[in-house]
Amino acid sequence: MRAIMVLLAALAALSIGAAPAMAQDDADPARMTMQKIAADVYFLENSRGSSNAVFVVTPDGVLVFDADLRTADQVLAAIRKTTDKKVRYIVTSHSAGDHATGVWVYREDKPTYIATRKQMRDLMMQESKEFAERKASSRPQDAPYKNAELVLPDIAFEGAMTLRFGGLTFQITEEGSAHSTSDVTVYIPQRRVFLMGDLLDTEIHPGQGESAGVFFSNVKNWIILLDNIMGRRLPVDTYVPGHGPVHVGRGVADLEEQKKYFVTLRDEVSKMIAAGKSVEQVQAEFKVPAEFAHYKRNPRLKVFLNLFYHQLVEQGF
Ligand SMILES: [Zn+2]
Repeated sequence: MRAIMVLLAALAALSIGAAPAMAQDDADPARMTMQKIAADVYFLENSRGSSNAVFVVTPDGVLVFDADLRTADQVLAAIRKTTDKKVRYIVTSHSAGDHATGVWVYREDKPTYIATRKQMRDLMMQESKEFAERKASSRPQDAPYKNAELVLPDIAFEGAMTLRFGGLTFQITEEGSAHSTSDVTVYIPQRRVFLMGDLLDTEIHPGQGESAGVFFSNVKNWIILLDNIMGRRLPVDTYVPGHGPVHVGRGVADLEEQKKYFVTLRDEVSKMIAAGKSVEQVQAEFKVPAEFAHYKRNPRLKVFLNLFYHQLVEQGF
């Protein structure tokens, strides 16, 4: 019985979630704006609140974090303006199209692409299917896919790995399954910078971990992973978000705010479930708490409320 209910909830999550998220992510082209956030560390913010990217310049070459096929050409142009070094490594925070499709853009430099085994599996399965669909599509927003190929990782790890390169240390950690099936962070201790991928979104409603139309985010795990990272008490000046503006020097306050968002919304949705509300009623009646009222990309909230609702019903609240 429980298994059936979980399955039904998962199906409901899929059918309600799919349309608005795709529409939101596929609108007009985005502009990437560069900002230097620490010595040798450059952040590129997506003007539409879609995926950000980061690159780190070292004497031995460049490391890139996250690559969206629709914006990676702008990131590469920014790298070429900043340094004559080649791109040596690419790491992706997770396998979603807006973070892991753009590796192909860097092919001239022959970088080594590092991701987790789970990310590689996702790329081989649902992401390659979506990639092929977009390649075959005639929609203008799919034009970047036309002559491109989906690149698979050269190194697929499990757990954690340390990359020592160009005088810096990159602690690459598979944090677990929260936003996606396999969320990866990169900590650069010498620069006091921690790249969060989509485990952190700033001034924006968090995304529901869409991968080729399937939604993976697990709210309970997300709170746990944020606690895990905060529990390390690392000497970090800046946690870099996967979406939204970077808050240079704000440190752990960004992670505290992200956790508070999930805890506050979880508690509010729990109250509404206890009062007998349906998921449609929760989506229609939910009022964003004042402290998060300035968050952008409101359509994402509706999809996320659906996840909260079903996961709270499944797991208890
Ligand atoms: Zn994303």
